[in-house]
Amino acid sequence: MKLSDLTEVPASALRSAGQFAAGLTTPVVRLGVTGLSRAGKTVFITALVRNLVAGGRLPFFGAQAEGRIIRAYLEPQPDDAVPRFAYEEHLAALAAVPPRWPDSTRQVSQLRVTIEYEPSSRMRRIIGSTLGAALGPDGAVHRLHVDIVDYPGEWLVDLAMLDQTYAEWSEQAISAARTPHRSEAARGFLALQAGGVADGANAEQAALTGAAVFTAYLASARKLEPSLSTLTPGRFLMPGDLAGSPLLTFFPLDAETAQQQPKLATLLSRRFESYKAKVIKPFFHDHFARLDRQIVLMDALSAINTGPAGINDLAQAMTAVLAAFKPGTNTWLSSIFRRRIDRIMFAATKADHLPQTSHDRLEALLRSLSEQAMQRAMFAGAEVKVLALSALRATRDADVKSGNTTLACIAGTPLAGEQLGTKLFDGRTETVLFPGDLPADPAAYFRQPTSFDNGDDVAMRALRFAPPRIVLANADGTAPPMPHIRLDRAIEFLIGDKLS
Ligand code: GDP
Repeated sequence: MKLSDLTEVPASALRSAGQFAAGLTTPVVRLGVTGLSRAGKTVFITALVRNLVAGGRLPFFGAQAEGRIIRAYLEPQPDDAVPRFAYEEHLAALAAVPPRWPDSTRQVSQLRVTIEYEPSSRMRRIIGSTLGAALGPDGAVHRLHVDIVDYPGEWLVDLAMLDQTYAEWSEQAISAARTPHRSEAARGFLALQAGGVADGANAEQAALTGAAVFTAYLASARKLEPSLSTLTPGRFLMPGDLAGSPLLTFFPLDAETAQQQPKLATLLSRRFESYKAKVIKPFFHDHFARLDRQIVLMDALSAINTGPAGINDLAQAMTAVLAAFKPGTNTWLSSIFRRRIDRIMFAATKADHLPQTSHDRLEALLRSLSEQAMQRAMFAGAEVKVLALSALRATRDADVKSGNTTLACIAGTPLAGEQLGTKLFDGRTETVLFPGDLPADPAAYFRQPTSFDNGDDVAMRALRFAPPRIVLANADGTAPPMPHIRLDRAIEFLIGDKLS
């Protein structure tokens, strides 16, 4: 078809096509943002939205760099039953004097950003203006709704429970609790087995006590394995609006104990099934199965700091995430998938804890882990990318001469109360720190930490820095850009093609 053919389409057809372009059926991209608690979801979404609506400095976000974004703004989110992401509140925390990091994600929330843009191809621009002429001045505006869905990564791991019976889940949970590195954390919980819980008349009380002990064990185990891990049920670690609900009052029993205490076992098994039906399925049905794109934020530096166990845990987390997004993993899930995720990004957050020179090495580690994870999960069908980013950069690079060598350092203001050796920070003093070099070869992370790290490096990378203050508007109404590292590359990967 030639362009001249297009211009001869009857006006009625043009009008209906024009309505499409004008927004009656504005395309929507549903972008999932997940990661475990403290991974950086809230900061990422706040920075993402602010950069879009205030026109941040985003050289690698093609549509913005090419000047094709007309405007971006918040609109009421379409799902009335889902809490709205508290964007204004989070931004206000960062704009306060002194600025504060916003409160973290505790449950699912959503926000709609609408982007008006000019399409990139000349062909589409000509068609657009033709339609615009048929429709009036507004008709040629192309819009995209970006629905950002923020949800705790803890909830993703629950998917595996859907295929399990209570007895199968119990067996798996108990054998995980018996692994040597969890022995300390699991002591109290394991004591509940083998006669440690009374059945008798008060099964309800036993369920309540057992669930509390089990939850405490999960929380301590989680500290040992900061990336994921196989710790289900996810709501026990991140209950959202279900804190205190009877849906969360169950725990695993080993086969012997279940046999000795049938009344309790029946109650726990019923609760387990209710959890599947009333908690897991609605979450996957209402939120997860409707996503188009996903970014998984990971506190990779914490994993590195934990040594080989932390890296293994990170690798497992990536495999589990990919398994959740793999078509056909779970029959029930496959039956409700309304769309297919076609792009997944694994992003290591807080890259500003390292100097620029280490970012490529951090990405090399993630790349190697994601390749392994894709093989293990036998994952195919979506484009997977890794990135080291900082959604809101709290440090700057600083080179320090030491004899003949130059050390790549970072300068930032550690938060009040942070400690490094005997030094206690007051939250006001800028400090220059050398966080150590990451190894060039990803295999080195799996060897003992001493092969590339020393305790000082680890402590420095774990320091928390004060956020930079966000200025909402200068006297002339303009807004200074927010500092970030590679946020624009993340935006380009996640939505760039939808604005072409
Ligand atoms: P969430 O639990 O995933 O929502 O995590 P948050 O977004 O609340 O982030 C947790 C903490 O990580 C914040 O309070 C900050 O201390 C830190 N953080 C998050 N993003 C960044 C970043 O880009 N740079 C730095 N230096 N710290 C960050």
